[in-house]
Amino acid sequence: MVDLGGQYAGIKDRVGDAIADILESSSFINGPEVHAFQAELEEYLGVKHVIPCGNGTDALQIAMMGLGLKPGDEVITADFTFAATVEVIALLRLTPVLVDVYPDSFNIDVSAIERAITPRTKAIVPVHLFGQCAHMEAILELAEKHGLYVIEDNAQAIGANYTFENGKKQKAGTLGHVGATSFFPSKNLGAYGDGGAIFTNDDALAHTLRGIVNHGMYERYHHDVVGVNSRLDSIQAAVLRAKLPKLDEYCDKRRAAARKYSAAFDGIEGIIVPKTVANCEGICDTCDCHVFHQYTLRIGNGKRDGLARHLGEKQIPFGIYYPIPLHKQKAYADERYDENDFTVTNRLVDEVISLPMHTELDDDQIDYITKTVIEFVAG
Ligand SMILES: *Cc1c(COP(=O)(O)O)cnc(C)c1O
Repeated sequence: MVDLGGQYAGIKDRVGDAIADILESSSFINGPEVHAFQAELEEYLGVKHVIPCGNGTDALQIAMMGLGLKPGDEVITADFTFAATVEVIALLRLTPVLVDVYPDSFNIDVSAIERAITPRTKAIVPVHLFGQCAHMEAILELAEKHGLYVIEDNAQAIGANYTFENGKKQKAGTLGHVGATSFFPSKNLGAYGDGGAIFTNDDALAHTLRGIVNHGMYERYHHDVVGVNSRLDSIQAAVLRAKLPKLDEYCDKRRAAARKYSAAFDGIEGIIVPKTVANCEGICDTCDCHVFHQYTLRIGNGKRDGLARHLGEKQIPFGIYYPIPLHKQKAYADERYDENDFTVTNRLVDEVISLPMHTELDDDQIDYITKTVIEFVAG
């Protein structure tokens, strides 16, 4: 699904030198590499504060802790996402409220959010699934109207731009009150271990978050708030510093591969290609709203599982993200939920299949993959 080896070849010297320096200096935690990465990422994203932390799940949890959400507060998020999003809501004893998604973008349905708002609702967590921003303009408007926080789960969309209706662009993860991302190795900006970060333009919130990641300490052994231990280590920061200058190029390569896939599948009955639905037009050559963390097809006519088996036989990697709606997972099932409210997610879990997507895909690979898919679906 990903080819990290090919990408490593392009940054090998820089990463090797930086890691050797860290080993010499023994500054493994909170070293200069972490501070430099933080500043470089702030600059790239155009955001005032980046707070590095241990992983993307922690980033979401710390964001919610920083906003002072309390047990019983309702937090609305998408039914169709990775479990980390809802896991931290439940872990903090907040009440997760799962809602349906749009069939074309796979992202949270704004009218479903609106229907789910109650007097106890405190926050919305849009997930920018597969590399494309949720419908943030409408979500921000709704949040403002109801006095809600917006916490972006940007684990899959770092580098994506969101285009507002007036043409203004802003980086994914910097649109809400706070954004969380992951540097898990297979993410678009991946470390060589775990890592994550929180973004915000709010100075007071940034201060709180910096304390929470470090045991609630602002001054050594003075614990002002309840915190956690969640740090990005210097070696991961060095890897991320080597990759950050190439992130736009990595995103371009993913988009180019997505365009080739979609061109090959054009007009094939039973295959629905992923759509970009931001305020830029279609999958255009210059579109920067989607960074294709995943390239995800919908396969109709009940053929998805057969296609998965066929790809397996032909040694082509694939992923089913995600096979079970969160509201049907044992840990998150709840009598409150009504199946009629999840018609899209319930259908998507039977239709989606993600194809190999990374920065090193070449034309021969794409050709082989698309021919193999088409041969099965059209055959
Ligand atoms: C990967 C991911 C996370 C969690 O990130 P980790 O660094 O693995 O903890 C959270 N949300 C989404 C949508 C993800 O894809």
